[in-house]
Amino acid sequence: MKIAIFNVHNWEKDYLQSASKDKHNLKMFDTYLTIDTVDLAKDCDAICIFTEDNASAPILDRLHELGVKYVALRSAGFNNIDVPHAQKLGIRIARVPEYSPYAIAEFTVGVMLALNRKLVRTHYRIMEMNFSLNGLVGFDMNGKTVGIIGTGKIGSVVAKILHGFGCKLLLYDIFENKALIEEYGATYTDLDSLVEQSDIITLHAPLNKKTHHLINKDRIAKMKKGVMLINAGRGGLVNTQDVINGLKTGQVGYFGMDVYEEEKGLYFEDHSEDILQDDAMARLMTLRNVLISSHQAFLTETALQNISRITFENLECMEKGADCKNEIKIT
Ligand code: NAD
Repeated sequence: MKIAIFNVHNWEKDYLQSASKDKHNLKMFDTYLTIDTVDLAKDCDAICIFTEDNASAPILDRLHELGVKYVALRSAGFNNIDVPHAQKLGIRIARVPEYSPYAIAEFTVGVMLALNRKLVRTHYRIMEMNFSLNGLVGFDMNGKTVGIIGTGKIGSVVAKILHGFGCKLLLYDIFENKALIEEYGATYTDLDSLVEQSDIITLHAPLNKKTHHLINKDRIAKMKKGVMLINAGRGGLVNTQDVINGLKTGQVGYFGMDVYEEEKGLYFEDHSEDILQDDAMARLMTLRNVLISSHQAFLTETALQNISRITFENLECMEKGADCKNEIKIT
């Protein structure tokens, strides 16, 4: 199969090449899929795209004219593709629904520890020969209340790890996972009680109309003063400006931000030669109790191997005309 792979990053090239096992003709492009780049897929049977690529109706129309029959998403989310329109055109789409919840959960807990124990600050101090401990006091995780919003695959692993730390777990989800209650003594509660009682709040719900700006000024006002907030879910789960205001007053004591509302065009790329135009990001960068990462929580060898393997399995399955368990169909 001839496959145009868009938005390929250096860190994934080898994994994709290796998973294709030389069975396919791969055309790798570092450009996003847009109306201006779509013709790169000329003569290809399939395209493979990532979260930032645009597979809206006009682009799908052009892909159809070019003869593209399959779209493989290297992600779980599919908000960047017009699925009903693709179905109308007979273009089949598949995604990677799960590649390693451990990768994201372990990173989330890593951010909690780094913020709590001020690891980034201490590292930079010591690089300047400052071995003082002033300002580096943290807290024991043991006994603290952690609120987990979204207890699906990732949130459940976060619960498992934090149970090991001796944390008390408060959970909020539209579906209860009974195993978390039985195995870890966790308690499901309503969202407001969770935000009021938690020392640490971590977000693992999907972004949709109901969860957009779930963390906003009203909810921040209800939180314990000095709360730690971690977002490794999706940027839009929090109102960034409200969190900045909370950080300025000390209401939010720590903020771990792996995902950002305005990450498109900023994250995943080297902007070190550019003038930063994003004032919210610029403000966040000035705060010592904020740890920013560039949508990195998923980035482990295991996750990249799984993403690449499942992507080619999906394409091969669709090419055979077989049912594909990871196919996205909207009825
Ligand atoms: P999942 O589908 O297994 O779990 C999501 C959970 O959220 C489910 O239990 C669901 O019932 C719950 N949920 C849905 N709507 C809700 C609502 N309105 N309020 C509360 N809970 C709600 O998904 P997952 O694999 O655990 O992933 C969770 C999220 O993590 C993804 O949607 C994605 O946005 C994010 N993610 C981030 C990274 C990263 O690198 N930072 C990587 C992968 C996934």
